[in-house]
Amino acid sequence: VIEGIRLVASLLAPPLCAACGRACDWRHPLCGACDRRLRRSQPVCDPAPPGLDVAWAVGPYDGICGELVAALKFRRLLPVARRIAEAIALAAPPELLGGTLVAVPPAPRRLAWRGFDPAEEIAVALARIQGLPLARSLTRGDGPPQVGRPRTDRIRRPPRVEAVAPARDVVLVDDVQTTGATLAACAAALRAAGSARVVAVTAARALWASEVWFGGSRLRA
Ligand SMILES: [Zn+2]
Repeated sequence: VIEGIRLVASLLAPPLCAACGRACDWRHPLCGACDRRLRRSQPVCDPAPPGLDVAWAVGPYDGICGELVAALKFRRLLPVARRIAEAIALAAPPELLGGTLVAVPPAPRRLAWRGFDPAEEIAVALARIQGLPLARSLTRGDGPPQVGRPRTDRIRRPPRVEAVAPARDVVLVDDVQTTGATLAACAAALRAAGSARVVAVTAARALWASEVWFGGSRLRA
């Protein structure tokens, strides 16, 4: 019945691709061309922020991966979270996706303002696809906001994160990695609470930001 309602609704107002805005099939958040761009996207892996064994992203923020993150975060297109999770499941090295999924917690102020948590949406979809356990092992205080502060300051004053009874093997899930300061803070809290292996998967990675964190060394694209 719901499928039927969606079909009728799509005839009245054709669905638009979450990335490019052109009309697309109502069953998919992306048009064929953008879906192909996503499938061809080059994962970004090196280097990992301190405390993480691996930090893997579907692709660079410049391009389809960043467009998807923006559609999810700023235009609240929640079905995009599932498409991102599918892309992670399809392209991430299988050994990476072993452990308990933990979404990187948002600052409470930001969650209240946005009304939903993009990282959690991706983590829930990924847990379903991979059949992995999902745990809320991390809490985050408001602290200084990460967005809108100079990159060097974000690295020097990372968010306050605490871990409660985390699993031994943790896969952190986030929408985007910029400086890596938040992931590093999460990893430090998890390891202090007993986690042995901490990896991260994200939809997109901003390469310009990583260069600051890693002392200006060029990154492999
Ligand atoms: Zn498109």
